[in-house]
Amino acid sequence: MLAVLVVLALIGGLLKIIGGVLYGSRSLLVDALTSFANIAALLFTIYYYKLSIMPPDADHPFGHYRLGIAGKITVMISYSFVAGVALAELLTTTTYTVSLYSVYFAILGFIVYLGVVVIARVIGGIFKTYSAFTVSELIESVVVTLAALGGAIVNYIIDYIGAVILTLYIFYEVRETFSEAVTVISDTAPSNKLIMQINEVIGKYGLKVSRIRLRFLEPGRYHGDIKVNIPRDIDIDKLIETLRSIKRELYEELGVDASIEIEF
Ligand SMILES: [Zn+2]
Repeated sequence: MLAVLVVLALIGGLLKIIGGVLYGSRSLLVDALTSFANIAALLFTIYYYKLSIMPPDADHPFGHYRLGIAGKITVMISYSFVAGVALAELLTTTTYTVSLYSVYFAILGFIVYLGVVVIARVIGGIFKTYSAFTVSELIESVVVTLAALGGAIVNYIIDYIGAVILTLYIFYEVRETFSEAVTVISDTAPSNKLIMQINEVIGKYGLKVSRIRLRFLEPGRYHGDIKVNIPRDIDIDKLIETLRSIKRELYEELGVDASIEIEF
């Protein structure tokens, strides 16, 4: 299935390259570049996702979740590279003509990418994220088709404007991916909802939370420490058993990997 996805995406990219290089449309050329960045993003995201779900080991005692960020970093590198190439292309472009064949290739590219999105949805899981990514490829294809059409039958400037919009969009995507990565690596706190759920779990065992310090690792995974108030007269065996149960429940039900401190 994955191989089919990659081959289809490659075909889509090639159709756009051919349409852009042979038949003049600069917007289709820029779109083709983003298609290849998209394929690179797909492969790297899968590779690092696989690494990120490996169980903890001696060199990564907290697990490998954050290796997933390497996927985002490679996405940024691929798209930044493509943004630079597109910019260079746009800056060195002089008057040109767009053939109607560019439009046909743009439409073919759109159809192929529609197939890619459908397959990614069917596979599900991590590919759902990828299909969301690829939906923007579809929107780009629509913009390009219209721009190339305008460029072919009215004036090449319309096609050029399409290419400029697409290039700006690549920079926007780089910025978005950057802020996603920064959110993860900057030890962002979880939502208030999760904090409430943690309070509920601990309250159920008759203890009171006095401080929660958690950081986001990846969706559904948090790490940190929790301080709880215990009564002075608590039985030590009972306390150890209670803390063990709390730890297990937080981990299994809420994805929270926290050490628990106690105070009176
Ligand atoms: Zn490791």
